[in-house]
Amino acid sequence: MGCGNGSSRVFFATAMNKKTIREIEVKGKRVLVRCDFNVPQDKQDLHITDDRRIREALPTINYLLEHGAALILMSHLGRPKGKDEKYSLKPVAARLQELLGRPVQMANDVIGDAVVAQAQALKPGDVMLLENVRFYPEEEKNDPAFARELARLGEVYVNDAFGSAHRAHASTCGVAAYLPAVAGFLMEKELNYLGGALENPRRPFVAILGGAKIGDKIGVIENLLPKVDRILIGGGMANTFMLAKSYPVGASLVEADKLDLARALLQNGATKLVLPIDWVIADRFAADAQAQTVTATNVPNDWRILDIGPATIQLFEQELQNAKTAIWNGPMGVFEFPKFARGTLAIARALANLTDCVTIIGGGDSAAAVESAGVADKMSHVSTGGGASLEFMEGRALPGVQALQDK
Ligand code: ADP
Ligand code: MG
Repeated sequence: MGCGNGSSRVFFATAMNKKTIREIEVKGKRVLVRCDFNVPQDKQDLHITDDRRIREALPTINYLLEHGAALILMSHLGRPKGKDEKYSLKPVAARLQELLGRPVQMANDVIGDAVVAQAQALKPGDVMLLENVRFYPEEEKNDPAFARELARLGEVYVNDAFGSAHRAHASTCGVAAYLPAVAGFLMEKELNYLGGALENPRRPFVAILGGAKIGDKIGVIENLLPKVDRILIGGGMANTFMLAKSYPVGASLVEADKLDLARALLQNGATKLVLPIDWVIADRFAADAQAQTVTATNVPNDWRILDIGPATIQLFEQELQNAKTAIWNGPMGVFEFPKFARGTLAIARALANLTDCVTIIGGGDSAAAVESAGVADKMSHVSTGGGASLEFMEGRALPGVQALQDK
């Protein structure tokens, strides 16, 4: 079976060698589609606060409907412990119905005879949505009996859930053992952008990495270093690199256990790694902290680094100026606090202004930053998968992709 554990490193893991819905007959068939409808919701009234993942699923859904299929859609939502109305996919069915302009039947369950009967009664053009696949613990265990139950619902399996492709679960992977399994358009698009950049980038190829910790992104740095021309480092992870170079970091977030690793990476990537030269620092970790700008040699003991400074923004803008491929993962500072969002927003705008460059945003917080800067539509591609894009950039094979049929 194709559900690897995701640990093998591959360098050509694009959808190019996986079959897509274009290469399979769906007319008159019941097609079981794994989507990533794991959308953010308002905690009080469960209102969907960002429906991008639903909108991104529409090309696949519309194509299949136009080609005469009946659709059984499935997804997880959040992390329910068993069946829990709070995690019901009903709000998704309602939103999807609006976006599609046709009815979406909501199933009362995920598996079982009643759901099978409902699926079998579907006619071409009909759409039904299963309840949250994580209502069953068997889903995350990739239980074969559960996967087989899911497979009873359709005649063809389509995986369009890039955001869940790094998980070897029953609905993302196990079910592919029992049905012809192909990729949807969103899956294909994600893999083409991310895979294309890693395998065959137009150069200069510049990566911008930030976020809280090096620990989260060691694999990404190691995998990207031989492929890119530059890695611009910002965010909390820069602090550990700075300390490794004996710069002062005051009371900033640092990973003491990663200092040796930072030194090794600096040695390997000497000419490629670009570190900040100034900072915006704060007297404490708070939105209303006192802030000041200092050069990298002047961080006082009790202060903490919360953003890159203006000279660093300029330096990074210069590095990006001629880039033909740019990948960004991880904000440049604590952008949740407006006082310390300037570096992150400047990078978002710098990427948006590149006219002859493939710009790819991976990572949930980076995608949110690009949205809040109002430039998401200026990017070539904003990934729908935080964890999945990270694992892909680490060079890992994604189990949900591996399980699909080769071309
Ligand atoms: P992404 O979701 O894009 O992959 P991460 O989750 O790795 O990004 O990192 C985002 C987090 O990093 C944000 O919550 C941000 O506040 C934090 N962060 C960025 N810079 C710093 C810093 N200098 N100190 C502490 N936290 C930081
Ligand atoms: Mg994040």
